[in-house]
Parts: sequence; C-alpha cells; structure tokens
Amino acid sequence: MKRSPPRGWPCNAVGEEITRLQQDLPKDAPHEIAALLDVHLMLLQDEQLISGVKHWITERHYNAEWALTTQYEIIARQFDDMEDEYLRERKADLEQVVERILRYMKGVASPMQPAAQAGSSRKKSQQDLLLDDTVDVPLVLVAHDISPADMLQFKQSLFVGFATDVGGKTSHTAIVARSMDIPAVVGARSASQLIEQDDWVIIDGDAGVLIVDPSPIILAEYGFKQRQGELERVRLNRLKHTPAVTIDGQRVELLANIEMPEDTLGAVHAGAVGVGLFRSEFLFMGRESKGLANLPDEEEQYQAYRKAIEGMQGLPVTIRTVDVGADKPLDRLDRAQDSHLNPALGLRAIRWSLADPPMFLTQLRAILRAAAHGQVNLLVPMLAHASEIRQTLVLIDHARMQLDNKGTPYGPVRLGAMIEIPAAALTLKLFLRYFDFLSIGTNDLIQYTLAIDRADESVAHLYDPLHPAVLRLVADTIAECNAQGKGVSVCGEMAGDVGMTRLLLGLGLRSFSMHPSRILAVKQQILRADASKLAAWAAQVLASEDPASLL
Ligand code: PEP
Ligand code: MG
Repeated sequence: MKRSPPRGWPCNAVGEEITRLQQDLPKDAPHEIAALLDVHLMLLQDEQLISGVKHWITERHYNAEWALTTQYEIIARQFDDMEDEYLRERKADLEQVVERILRYMKGVASPMQPAAQAGSSRKKSQQDLLLDDTVDVPLVLVAHDISPADMLQFKQSLFVGFATDVGGKTSHTAIVARSMDIPAVVGARSASQLIEQDDWVIIDGDAGVLIVDPSPIILAEYGFKQRQGELERVRLNRLKHTPAVTIDGQRVELLANIEMPEDTLGAVHAGAVGVGLFRSEFLFMGRESKGLANLPDEEEQYQAYRKAIEGMQGLPVTIRTVDVGADKPLDRLDRAQDSHLNPALGLRAIRWSLADPPMFLTQLRAILRAAAHGQVNLLVPMLAHASEIRQTLVLIDHARMQLDNKGTPYGPVRLGAMIEIPAAALTLKLFLRYFDFLSIGTNDLIQYTLAIDRADESVAHLYDPLHPAVLRLVADTIAECNAQGKGVSVCGEMAGDVGMTRLLLGLGLRSFSMHPSRILAVKQQILRADASKLAAWAAQVLASEDPASLL
C-alpha cells in the first residue's frame, strides 16, 4: 500500500533537484552515480520514511524537521542491524537524502510549518512543542538547553517536566521552573543524547536526579514520594493565614519573587505579604521580530506594572529594573552572538540600562506612573560603582521631570539597590547613603564572590551558598542595614531554601523574598524557630571553616 506523504512533504522539489543532477551528469560520469541518484529518488518515496514522519507530526506534534530526523534515526538503526553489507551501506544514502530534504526545508520555508519557525535546530523544534497544547499524555522534554524566556510558555505546553544538558541550579531557567513548580533537572550533561524517544524517565527536581527506565521498585518508591509530597502541600496550606512569627515573637516578612504580573495570583494565594522581586526583564525577553529585539513601550510596561500592583491588592510591590544579559538574553540571537564572551561579566542589568538612557527612562517613567496605583519599591540590580548610583539617580529624577512636563500623574517610590556584587557588599555605607533599602541577590553574590558561573554545570559543585566568604558578605550587609535602621531582604534562592532559614534568622534577617511555592515551607521553619537563641549559633557558623557541618 502506498501512503500519501504528509502535507507539504517536499519530495517533488527535492526529487526535481535530484533528477536535474542526474540530467546534468557529464557524459563520461560512471554509471554508478546515476544509479545512486535513482536510489535516492526511491528513498525519497520510501513508505516507512513518509509514514513515520507523518506519525510524529500528527501524533506527537513534532515540527517537520524534528519528525524527519527522528524517523531517520529509527530507520538508520534498522540499517545498522542488517546482515547484508550492501544494504547496510544504504544508510549513507538515506542520510544524504534526509540532509537534502532538511537543507530544502531550511532554505525554502517549508509549507508544513510557519516560516518563522523554520530551521533545523532541535531548539526551534522544542519551541513548536512548547506552544502546543493538544496532547494530553504526560510527556517530559529532554533538551540540550531551554532559555528562561521559553520557560514562560512551558506551563501552557504539553510537558509536565524537563531536563537539560546545561545550566546550573540557580540559572534563570531553573529558577523560573521552580517558581512555576515544574519538576526539572538542569545540567544533566549529555541527557539529551542518552535518553531516547519513548524512554520512561523520573525527574526528581528536589534531588536533581534523572532516572531513565526506572525499575518497578523505584517507580513505586517515587509514587509514594509523590503522594507524600501532595499530603505535605495540603498540610502546609493550613499555614497560609498564619502570620510568620518566631517562637520568641519576632515578626518575619515573607515576600514573593515573580516574573510576570499574572504571578501575583500565586503570590497572594501563598500568603505573601508583598512582592519582594518582580524580575521585569521577563517582559522584555523572547520578543524578537525579524531578528531584532522588540522592546515593550512605556504604555505596555505601565499596564504590566499596574496589573502586578493591582494583583497584590494593596500589598507592596518591588519592581526591579531590567536585568537582561548573562543567562537572560533578550532573544535567541543575543545568545548566539555572545557565546565567545563571558556575558555574566558583561553588559548586564544596570550596565545595560545606563548604556541606553532612552530605554531606561521609558522603564522608569512606566514604573513611576504605576506607583500612582499602590506601594512601589524601585529596585536597581548589579550596582557596583558610585558613578553608576549617581547616574541612576539622575535618570530617575529626569524621568520624574519628563512626567511633570507632560502633566502625567505618578506616585512616590522607595529606592532600593541589589547587593549582588562583592564590591557592593564591601561598600555598604555608600549604598546606604543613597538608598532606602537593600536587597541581597545571593544568586549573583555567590557567582561573583566565588567566580563560578551560575549557569555552568561543569563548576556547579563549587557553587556554594555556605562558603565562609559568601556568608560573611551576607551577614555584614544584614548587620549594617539593621544598625542603620534600613530595610534589608534576601531575594536570591537562599531565601527559599528551608535549610538556610534558621541561619538567616540568626544573622538578623527579617525579610525573605522567594518564589511563592516556597513560602509556606519557609514559614513553617520560622514558626518553629527561636530567633533569640539563633544569633549565637549563627556567629559560630560564620566563624567556622566548614559552615555546612554546623547546619
Ligand atoms: C540574585 O542574583 O540573587 C537575584 C535575585 O537576581 P537574579 O537571580 O534575577 O539574577
Ligand atoms: Mg541577580
């Protein structure tokens, strides 16, 4: 039975190309070449190839290129198993035919998919899948890499979890996955090559473990763990309306980290008393059009900030100015271009904003306007130099002046700086002269103190929140702010890590900002803690050569 090829299968075009090659062969060309091209023409019509591609597209919603590559791999394995050497060698012909089709798809946007998604990389294939919502079997995505911007579409996709070859535990892809409660393992090295289509996998995001083809005992164990986790969630939910107060009566503020205005729903639901970190860059990412970043204008940003403020129903919202760069490229193009540099040390966050004053002023005006609708704290990332502080403050004043000139209403904001570069943590007095509050970005503070790229899995074992140098900088920042009566919070992943709650309390921290899914677990730790007894213990941890041994 001859099957009809999938709609848009470019066999005619590619077939014509091969036929033309045959016709153009020089007269003295060995006749084997023409015969070989005949084989290619036959392979182009191969039923197993065509029906397989059709299957992957219709059943699994793969894009055309990924469907073709997947089917090629299946048939290629069959060729490898053939006893007849001649037939075994036909695998190379199939490979050439497939390459020819892929080249055609790349060069001429295939009618099987929108032109904007044409391309041969697996990443773009993932993009198609991320946007698909028509499959209801539990599937996980195993990929070389997923960008933080892609993560925003993950919840609407057909996947229930993912694993990537690259990335660190505090890479933004991992952070967003955690904030969305998506089971994920990042930095699993060659997982995308070793794991095959239709393998069963367990993704244990808590332990950072990926189990392929688990035995029935392991499956049962994880089934049990899953049920325990659900029970624990139900139990923790009862703490939602309980104020976060330690045994000795110390009040603690538990705030939410969000990426999008809609995340305020989850923040309120988890009992957050405000947003401690709105990563505004997520409004800027993944918006490229025709290869150019297409940034949100003032009105679009204003509406987004206003939505977040209204979503928090009168609770304060801390909006951080844009922090793109490093592992948060504006678009995929950026990522490729920067691969030869070290973007974590480059034009990132406030450096990027100060390099483009009109863009920064647009954001500042939008935040100031939104502040007319509720309590807003404006937080500036990655400051290190006094000159950067002064330029930032001048631009904030300038944005106010621009709004005054136009008669546009705006509201007051408290100004805060992130302490995430050791240079900032070592010049706290300077920062406290200019800012109303500080927020410690431990993710970057660890990265820059220890010279460990937080997105690089090959040095992930050295990324140590408990390194004495990191603890010293965190402790000093908290102590200095407390001494001066200025607000201080921690908004890095450390704040949501229940293993760190007692230590941070002991160091004097009373404001924690974390993804909403962590709030109740941290609250439980706080309710069980006696802060008055923790200070002396925290001092010992701080002085220890091996702080982890005391935790
Ligand atoms: C941090 O560095 O700790 C932080 C909260 O900012 P981000 O993770 O967005 O860099
Ligand atoms: Mg940071």
